[in-house]
Amino acid sequence: MKLYDNIIDATMEALKEAPVNKVPYAPGNAWKCLSDSEFIMQRDAGLELGGAGEPSVNYTMVTTSDRITEDEVLIVGKDIPAITGSTAFARIVMLKTSDLGEDQDQEKAFQTIRNLEFVRYHVFPEGYMVRVSSQSNQEQVRISTEALRKKIDFSKVGSAYISKYKEVSQVEKVRVIFITDKKIVESLRGNADKVDKITRTLTHILDGMPTDCGHCSMKAVCDEVEGMKELHLGKKKPGKE
Ligand code: SF4
Repeated sequence: MKLYDNIIDATMEALKEAPVNKVPYAPGNAWKCLSDSEFIMQRDAGLELGGAGEPSVNYTMVTTSDRITEDEVLIVGKDIPAITGSTAFARIVMLKTSDLGEDQDQEKAFQTIRNLEFVRYHVFPEGYMVRVSSQSNQEQVRISTEALRKKIDFSKVGSAYISKYKEVSQVEKVRVIFITDKKIVESLRGNADKVDKITRTLTHILDGMPTDCGHCSMKAVCDEVEGMKELHLGKKKPGKE
């Protein structure tokens, strides 16, 4: 799975514009998570990330290459305790997985992609309400005053995300990046759009869409992303044409 590799590289390049605080994954440091989403009322909110007109970006990428060698949280810009008002916000996740076996077993690859998408929207840190807009690749977060009092920060929330991702057996390494530097968040919007197109095309392919490039609405994506056409035309789902 190398479909996202160029965007992983472009994202890491963009981060060079500001200091990056790298924190190793510490399972014991992971912020407590709830089993379901929590609604934090405005009167209980201590902080809003990516809301109130501030830019917000969210995307997740998978690779089987060695670009991600550690479980780690990267923080670019202010961490939660240092933020005093509404702020720009991006959360980007990079996953190193074992070979998804899309060559031999599309069902298995499909299931893994589905599991990873599930995790993306099903991590519920306590006092940290996530509102996702998958259509526009945005994510807003409302943090409760109680969570602020208990000293929530990105390294703890990031470790909670990493713990959840590592429950998926094919996941080997996870890099979670939180960005509150407005200029960098804005610079990543184009990447988010590309990731979204690749993920949607991949989902359609693994779901068994017909292999007719001449009449396919995904053609622009497949022409641009190395490996996408090979993935589809070389590996059709059995029984589907
Ligand atoms: S390979 Fe062809 S048919 Fe398959 S998604 Fe891409 S453009 Fe469409």
